[in-house]
Amino acid sequence: MSEVICTACDLLAGRRSVPGGLVWRGGGLALHALDGPCPIPGWLVLTAERHCRALHDLDAEATAQLGPIAQRVAVAQRTVLGAEHVYAFAIGDVLHHFHLHLVPRYAATPQRLRGRGAFDATPADARPAAELAAAARLVAEALPSRD
Ligand SMILES: [Zn+2]
Repeated sequence: MSEVICTACDLLAGRRSVPGGLVWRGGGLALHALDGPCPIPGWLVLTAERHCRALHDLDAEATAQLGPIAQRVAVAQRTVLGAEHVYAFAIGDVLHHFHLHLVPRYAATPQRLRGRGAFDATPADARPAAELAAAARLVAEALPSRD
């Protein structure tokens, strides 16, 4: 019998890493940079701390936290990183553990990487890990501190 692999659970447990690590945790959610090559600095992901399939399976604590913290992250992506706009995507076709992508769009973001085009980036589009980590930390510093 094979063990079910969940990369989100592995990340939350410290068995995987992303640039900057888990930059914020609270209310049953964790905030971190995208896991994998990332074309956009400040592309952040809010992931449920408890394994759950999707939005319909989110527990009450994380449900209550999701809207307020997603809004704070988006505000910080605009004010701290200078994003013009922030996209929010919860697709869940590949990773079956609830996560919300919060993807900044900057004035310089190429047309092909705007909107859901961000998911079609090539490896050549990937930004350096240090840049991704710095952007994640800057956003986290603008959020309310939690235990
Ligand atoms: Zn999981």
